[in-house]
Amino acid sequence: MKLTSAGEVRRLMEENGLRFNKGYGQNFLVSDSIPGRIAEGCGAEPEDGILEIGPGIGTLTRELCRRYGKVVAVEIDASLIPVLKKTTEEFDNLTVLCQDVLKVDLPTLLREQFGDRRVTVCANLPYYITTPILMKLLESDCRFENITVMVQKEVAGRLCAKPGEPDYGALTAAVARYGKVTRLLSVSPGCFLPAPKVSSAVVKISLYRERPYKVEDEALMTRCIRGAFSQRRKTLANSLSSEFSECRKEEILKAIAACGFPPDIRGERLGVSEFAALSDVIGRELEGKKPTADSAAEKGKGNHDES
Ligand code: SAM
Repeated sequence: MKLTSAGEVRRLMEENGLRFNKGYGQNFLVSDSIPGRIAEGCGAEPEDGILEIGPGIGTLTRELCRRYGKVVAVEIDASLIPVLKKTTEEFDNLTVLCQDVLKVDLPTLLREQFGDRRVTVCANLPYYITTPILMKLLESDCRFENITVMVQKEVAGRLCAKPGEPDYGALTAAVARYGKVTRLLSVSPGCFLPAPKVSSAVVKISLYRERPYKVEDEALMTRCIRGAFSQRRKTLANSLSSEFSECRKEEILKAIAACGFPPDIRGERLGVSEFAALSDVIGRELEGKKPTADSAAEKGKGNHDES
């Protein structure tokens, strides 16, 4: 069966009473060369494990199974599973899990399925949930070797952008905390069935073994990044004043100055190390605002007196 032929894939779907489910972002690869190039591009070692998200009817899955030690593929659409089993029947190194990847407990999956194997993520992602999937993979604390994924071309542009460039935004900074992104290849709509309206690109996120910055409070840094990009047209001081309503604007400006940034700087100028530095200064500012045990007791006494 030639899964890279649009005619054959159409026939396979019809024979099995299947339809391309738009709601699940089903645009299957029908290119002779792209699936192999993605599988090769993820750069895993022959004995490594691969986590594939959304195998569909198995076009990329087959290329992964040919090259690597073990492949675990998570597919949400139960109706595709019988076909997927048929198209991949020659491989005994594949496990298919019919689940929603956003609901999967990743550390448990990795432990149960891969044990001590090194694991790389390689997938042609369903575009409607690209960001939640990427953030789940990155925030899971799973030590993936790297994450190689096909995404919409515009998303690839955002992921690869540098501070100050028009595409640089909250997603760029959020992902840059975890790894370095490189674009591997561009893929035109004609390589998919059905052809999507958008172009695509494959990116590789090479994860840092050690973060390229030090920060006291990761959650506070997340707040800084979110705040900085919540109102793009505003200066950093103004957008952070909305996010940190517990601080006065002068305090935010003082924190910005303490990091050596001009008062009218915009969030899109800051790289992750700068966000980390800013987060630490704001953290100290907030620390000073925490009620001390004495002031809390004093307040409590006041409340008691009033009742
Ligand atoms: N890997 C195949 C290929 O390259 O031809 C299919 C890729 S298609 C763009 C995305 C796949 O992700 C579909 O098979 C779709 O059913 C599956 N999918 C969508 N949402 C999912 C979810 N939440 N969890 C797991 N798989 C999902």
